[in-house]
Amino acid sequence: MSTIKNKLRRLLIDKGLVITMGDRPEVLHHHSVGIEGDKIVFIKPSSEVNSEGWDEVYDARDMAVMPGFINCHTHAAMSLMRGFADDKPLKEWLEDYIWPSEAAFMNRENVALGTRLALLEMISAGTVMFADMYFFEDEVAKACHEAGMRVLLGEGLLDFKTPHFQRPEDGIAFTLDLASEYAHDPLVKVAFAPHAAYTVSPTLLKKIAELSGQHNLPVHIHLAETRQEVEDCYRAFGSHPVDHLFNVGLLNHRLITAHMVHVPAEYHARLREAGVRIAHNPSANLKLASGFAPVHEYLQEKIILGLGTDGPASNNNLALPIEWRHSSLITKMLTGQPETINAFDALYMATTGGAKVLGVDHITGSLQPGKAADIILIPLNKPHLLPVYNIYATLAYSMHPTDVDTVIINGKTVMRHRRILTLDTEKIITQVKKVEEKIAHYFHLNNRRNGKK
Ligand SMILES: [Zn+2]
Repeated sequence: MSTIKNKLRRLLIDKGLVITMGDRPEVLHHHSVGIEGDKIVFIKPSSEVNSEGWDEVYDARDMAVMPGFINCHTHAAMSLMRGFADDKPLKEWLEDYIWPSEAAFMNRENVALGTRLALLEMISAGTVMFADMYFFEDEVAKACHEAGMRVLLGEGLLDFKTPHFQRPEDGIAFTLDLASEYAHDPLVKVAFAPHAAYTVSPTLLKKIAELSGQHNLPVHIHLAETRQEVEDCYRAFGSHPVDHLFNVGLLNHRLITAHMVHVPAEYHARLREAGVRIAHNPSANLKLASGFAPVHEYLQEKIILGLGTDGPASNNNLALPIEWRHSSLITKMLTGQPETINAFDALYMATTGGAKVLGVDHITGSLQPGKAADIILIPLNKPHLLPVYNIYATLAYSMHPTDVDTVIINGKTVMRHRRILTLDTEKIITQVKKVEEKIAHYFHLNNRRNGKK
């Protein structure tokens, strides 16, 4: 036993400003976080901690030490389509641009590459876990293992053929295989990911609801994103998308709904009672002019709520600080109440709230002894962050995503002094430029190299 214990890396994060998050505000000045292997073993005043005898000590003086961010909804590999088709309505964007380019380019190799590009971006902005919905999700699992990133992944299921599967039944079988393969994995978790109620038939949704119950797997779906979707749902099924999901047996505590922009107040109590979780994607909703989710009402109703970026082709960022800024500022403006989505609420959605949405709050989302060491360090001695009167306000309203200096996930340092240690950044960038060239050529885009001519 002792041999195994001796092998665990012992890391001390010393003399930091520790923001534990969790359900109540707690700021601990001049505290140290002890890590053994993948776990936090203590959080104590630095005066009580001996900094000798550790494998490594990170000096966190003048730094915020907090839980890493959780992105509750994205399509990571779509980073390869960032900036490829912008300023268009959702339907046109999907049907005329995204789906054709996916059919032409999003093969296994490019999903592996695009996911790695997204991982570089996410880690560099302090993200320690994300929920992914895309294709070739076995590649996403491999990429996350390589990067040391947590993920809740789900193979995108649609009624029609995807880049990975001819038939949705094959995607369902594949999801179940992935779930059993990663059942005991420390980083990778698996969900069913039916794309939306307008792309997946009620029969298939019912089947997914049944299997989700049998195997206790979450279901991650886009819901009530646009007004058009709601109107189409009434036309096709005579009900609002929330009622539609109830009718097919999906409205329960395993459900993770992305967007929830157009959900009238009479549904809110029902969502809370059912234990439905919401991934709020303010930037993507703004960019596609879909509307703005009633997040203040969701929070008042105590619905489980986290933040997502949505895919990098519809945002076009994967940085949570940008999401909470949009969420907080626009909700204040819409409600006329500046106290709404306050600085703590904003950070809560990106940490503990997100962990609850993805069903991992017993593992991550706050700093507590016994929880996984998913920790980020943010140096505070910067012109745009000083002075620090209220650390929640500093982080929520002044922080830039690139202020994150160090990222530790499951006890492993994946970024130190802004250098990503687990992925080959240069190699990924070189490969991405090659794919960019091909996509630009195929769609006759005036990309940067064409632009130079
Ligand atoms: Zn999405």
